[in-house]
Amino acid sequence: MLIDTHCHLNFQAFEKDLEEVITRAKSEGVEKIIIPGAKIDSSQKAIEIAGKYDNCYAAIGVHPHHESDTGILGYYDIKKKLVELAKNKKVVAIGEFGLDYYEYQQTVHQENKITAEIKQKQKELLKIHLEVARECNLPIILHCREAFEDMLPIVLQYLRPPSRSPFGHLEGVSRSVLRGVFHCFGGNEKDLKRVLDMGFYIGFDGNITFKNAYSLQNLVKLTPLDRILTETDAPYLSPEPFRGKRNEPKNVKIIARKIAEIKGIRLEEIEKITTKNALKLFFNNTFSF
Ligand SMILES: [Zn+2]
Ligand SMILES: [Zn+2]
Repeated sequence: MLIDTHCHLNFQAFEKDLEEVITRAKSEGVEKIIIPGAKIDSSQKAIEIAGKYDNCYAAIGVHPHHESDTGILGYYDIKKKLVELAKNKKVVAIGEFGLDYYEYQQTVHQENKITAEIKQKQKELLKIHLEVARECNLPIILHCREAFEDMLPIVLQYLRPPSRSPFGHLEGVSRSVLRGVFHCFGGNEKDLKRVLDMGFYIGFDGNITFKNAYSLQNLVKLTPLDRILTETDAPYLSPEPFRGKRNEPKNVKIIARKIAEIKGIRLEEIEKITTKNALKLFFNNTFSF
């Protein structure tokens, strides 16, 4: 049994053959699929798919690269909308959200530049999601690209319990402890250590199978087994030998096999432990397997 903890079945790439993609995943032993949102509408789409397929679950959030799309809504409205969407019982996490300072070739931002102003807006959006996760007591799916220096201190602030109000009772939801995954991990060894020290899980994807992916494979080696999650990030990041083609959740098995090879243990062991990790984080360990 495997769980694909990050798969965008809500994206256009799967519009035509969603059913077949899910069936193929099942036949490869992928028992559950978590579909993260990247905007409000794709979060709603994730919930819609999760409502239709038993083995699909939704996460809701606004990706940092869609920060500018949120202009009309305003941050207060985004927060309200996310809290409302989080009430759906198939929503298992808040995500994906975070900071992304990588300058993509094709981007909504002018001249592909990540300006100081854009960074500031991404940080505001990050904080809103962290507040929502704390209020709703849901795990988080974090996206961090070339932004660990800025992101870790902000996340750390929210790991602390909410402060006491002058009236003596706890503000916010005191029972919630922030927990989650740094998905598609792409930091260095130092970032990895800090993220592990903060108690987070690490999500690995198809890029660990790429030729010359030595530094990523080294990170797999350094991550304790009980902190690893498997994910495809489909339709992106197809593992070898499918690199460049559309990725799909069945390929999570290829990623698990690569992790097994790097760790020098049997595939079945990796399947068992990563499934256990995902159940613990997203399903509160209430599902048996
Ligand atoms: Zn991401
Ligand atoms: Zn993603």
